[in-house]
Amino acid sequence: MFLADSGSICVEVALKLALQYQHARGQGERQRVAALRGGYHGDTFATMGICDPVDGMHAQFSGQGPEHVFLPRPPSAVPEPGGGWQVDETELSEWETQARAGIAAHSGELAAIICEPVLQGAGGMHVYAPQVLGVLRQLADEHGLLLIFDEIATGFGRTGRLFASQWAGVIPDIMCVGKALTGGYLSLAATLCTTSVAQTLERSGSPLLHGPTFMGNPLACAVANGSLRLLSEPDPQDKGAARWQGQVNALQDGLRRTLGEASGFSSVRQVRVLGGVGVIQLREPVRMAEVTAAAVRRGAWVRPFRDLLYVMPPYVTGSRELEQLGQAVVAAVGQVHGR
Ligand SMILES: *Cc1c(COP(=O)(O)O)cnc(C)c1O
Repeated sequence: MFLADSGSICVEVALKLALQYQHARGQGERQRVAALRGGYHGDTFATMGICDPVDGMHAQFSGQGPEHVFLPRPPSAVPEPGGGWQVDETELSEWETQARAGIAAHSGELAAIICEPVLQGAGGMHVYAPQVLGVLRQLADEHGLLLIFDEIATGFGRTGRLFASQWAGVIPDIMCVGKALTGGYLSLAATLCTTSVAQTLERSGSPLLHGPTFMGNPLACAVANGSLRLLSEPDPQDKGAARWQGQVNALQDGLRRTLGEASGFSSVRQVRVLGGVGVIQLREPVRMAEVTAAAVRRGAWVRPFRDLLYVMPPYVTGSRELEQLGQAVVAAVGQVHGR
């Protein structure tokens, strides 16, 4: 595990680690990475290169870094209340065919595949089928690539599993965590890898080539330890489960109930809720200034983007606060965009 000071940096470290790993195996010509369209992995230059090249808010910097390989965005899937998933099998198998072809076409140049498991965040709050992760694992193994999961937004329970990859039971070679690592209080992130990846580097005699002055900030680490301790405490109502699990279940139920009302609006394309993430997708771009003002008048601060209004409330949110938040967002959408 390597501690980094922000999510973007820990993704940079993951990329370096993947390139160094390939170099250590005598495959230094593997310099490119395969990423998913619709993904978001950070704002530094190397990470910009693996964000969605069109929608990733970095289009004006295109041509700065190496050209990476983009696989199509996986088709959306709808999580069901019981823990299952509604998936369009035809769409999924078409996606798989395209993904296989995309990787095969660049096999010898690729070092790794990177994705945000199950939930693409800043690239569009897009929820996709967990089976996709199994396909990516297979492809990585078949072509000698490392599989990197960017769990910076999804980690520590947010999607209803401790890590979103657990929806599929797929284990990556490298994993990035950040954001909720400190409960959102201080900037800290970490790049984790398997023993096999670490030992490959070790045997090559080259340490991980990343070592800025301030990393693993002790204050941030203390906050992370405190937050992880809270997360893993037993649920007061159900001693067999961890505290976060009960909290995220309550968020999911509350968001389904309150945001669900908007699914009947003519202005709304879809309402989706996964764990502690609630999304209202409109049929048109959000009228930003009006919607945020309408929500603030009802006591809620939200930050919409594109055609999306989303909420990711803190786990300590009480049921009345959650009700107020959900109702404020739904009312703001109804008032500005129509019911
Ligand atoms: C936020 C985020 C990042 C970047 O993290 P920063 O701490 O903002 O640099 C990278 N990947 C994902 C999936 C994110 O959500």
